[in-house]
Parts: sequence; C-alpha cells; structure tokens
Amino acid sequence: MTGKVWLVGAGPGDPGLMTVKGLNCLREAQAVVFDRLVNPILLQEAPAGCELHDVGKEANRHPIPQPQINQILIDCARRGLRVVRLKGGDPFVFGRGSEEAQALRECGIECDVVPGITSAIGGLAAAGIPVTHRDFASSFHVVTGHLQDGKEPQDWGKLAVLPGTLVILMGMSQIQTICAALICAGKPADTPAAVVMRASTPEQKVLCAPLSALAQESEDAGFHAPALIVIGSVVSLREILAFSGSA
Ligand code: SAH
Repeated sequence: MTGKVWLVGAGPGDPGLMTVKGLNCLREAQAVVFDRLVNPILLQEAPAGCELHDVGKEANRHPIPQPQINQILIDCARRGLRVVRLKGGDPFVFGRGSEEAQALRECGIECDVVPGITSAIGGLAAAGIPVTHRDFASSFHVVTGHLQDGKEPQDWGKLAVLPGTLVILMGMSQIQTICAALICAGKPADTPAAVVMRASTPEQKVLCAPLSALAQESEDAGFHAPALIVIGSVVSLREILAFSGSA
C-alpha cells in the first residue's frame, strides 16, 4: 500500500504558531522531511521511531537539490509511510511546496496540504507591524527578492508605484539593489521600512529606517537571512503596536 504525504506549514518560527491540524499530522507521522526554517523544537512532536529527514537549504546554496527532495518524498510514500513534509511558514508561499505537490501527484501519490501562517504576514505581526491598516495600506504585495538564473526577480519600477505594503522575502542578498531600484522608480526615499530577522523566535531582531537608509543600516547591524523586508507606512505603527509576541 502506498503511503500519503501531507505538506504541512510549520508557521513563521514560534512553535505555538503551527496549526492544530498540522500538529496532529506531525504526531501521527512515520516520516518527517523538514526544512532549515522549521523550528527544531517541533520535531520533538513526531512519535518515537518516526524517520527524520533533514533537507534544509541555505540561501543561494542547495545542499539537497529539489529533485532529490521530491524523490525522498516519493520513496517514503512508496514504502507505505505517512509522510509529513514540514515547511516553514505556509507550504505554498515560495519554498517550492507546490512543485513538490505536483511531483507527488504525477507519481500517483496521495498528497494533502495543511496551510500555515506565512512569515510574510505572521512574521511582521510578531514584530508589531500590521500588514494592512485602514489609514495606511489597503493592500499588500508579497514578492521574492531572490534572483533565479541571474534574472531580476521583479519589475521594481511597477512595484514602486503601488500604494500598499511591500513585503520582500529572500531579499537580503539584494537589499541594496532593491532599495535603490525602488527609490529610482519613484518610491519616496523617506518611506518607512524595516527588516525583521528570525521573526517570532527568541532571536527576533527588528530594524526600522527610512527606505534610503535601510540597506546600509541593516548591513551595519549584521542583519542576514532569514529576514523579511517590509516597506510602507504601516511600519510607523510599530512604535505603538510592538508586543512581546509571547502567549
Ligand atoms: N513558506 C515560507 C517562505 C519560504 S521562503 C513562508 O510562508 O513564510 C524563505 C524566506 O521566508 C526567507 O528567506 C525569509 O525571507 C522568509 N522567512 C521565513 N521565516 C522567517 C522568519 N522567521 N523571519 C524572517 N523571515 C522569514
């Protein structure tokens, strides 16, 4: 009998931010295939004897190539196991969860998804930054800043003129270029902006600066991936809304 794979979102970092459904899946798993962004504390929820497969990736380096990750999932399922593919945030927000689901379906393997809280929203909230606010932003745009095959990932000129909150994932290696391109295309240099590193974990660090100073200040302060870049007036609300994040 072929097994089944659940693509489960682990949330942005705080283990308490995983869904009840996801946790129940994890507690019944026979194999867990997990990413670098998953809080390792969650792995303690897997039952005794459960196989643990670490397929963690690092920015710009892929220690385990994607086809091999797909193959691990396929092999585990073909051995009849209940497999949890545990991914940071939401499984379908970047991170190639949808490609994994496709690969499984193509092999006729049953696959289900358990959504998670994406860092793009929940990670900002943990830093006291609401992604929308009636007076400041009536839309938000979540984009990747990661270059694929040397190609520019976004048309920054188009994004610069949108009035909503701009959230950039995987953008830290390009932060200078991104901020400069946005300003060049008309985004005001004094737009409130922030970098949120390791959101919702005890190591969370937040840096707020005007868009024109963000790249330099975050570099000087040693900010690095995993981090969210957020640009828009909602960042100014952090002064009032920043909470500890603990339950
Ligand atoms: N599926 C994930 C995103 C995967 S892409 C989600 O929904 O959150 C990986 C990027 O997500 C990182 O480079 C970083 O930009 C962002 N990210 C994920 N977890 C984060 C965290 N705890 N703090 C800051 N950024 C995070």
